[in-house]
Amino acid sequence: MTHVPTELRREVIERAGNCCEYCRIQQDDYFFTFEIDHIIAEKHRGKTTSDNLCLSCPDCNAYKGSDIASLDPETNELTMLFHPRKHNWSDHFKLNGVRIEPLTAVGRVTEFLLRFNMIERVIDRELFGSVGHYPCNS
Ligand SMILES: [Zn+2]
Repeated sequence: MTHVPTELRREVIERAGNCCEYCRIQQDDYFFTFEIDHIIAEKHRGKTTSDNLCLSCPDCNAYKGSDIASLDPETNELTMLFHPRKHNWSDHFKLNGVRIEPLTAVGRVTEFLLRFNMIERVIDRELFGSVGHYPCNS
């Protein structure tokens, strides 16, 4: 894992509003420190530049790993994952309560691979939502 310079790290956190750019939970609510994710992983020649970095909670980052695409369960087509710098979250997902429902192929592969709706994660979001902290506004 490449070191992300402090200034760039700060820029990514501020741009994200301290929120996971995949599942939209707030870092302030979470026990573990959020991580700077290479959207296109370094092993695929993704660079450590602002336009390839996003803020991710540890769960999203762990399930995403170095993946950049998956097979859409509806069409079996190879489909790129959600790219927080190129895609608009609400074009690909919608909230049903605190469940994250995909709207597109990009949404379907990302929701599946990052396991947005694992019961433990839904329970966490219900808790954050009950005190008005979910979803993040960013
Ligand atoms: Zn997340």
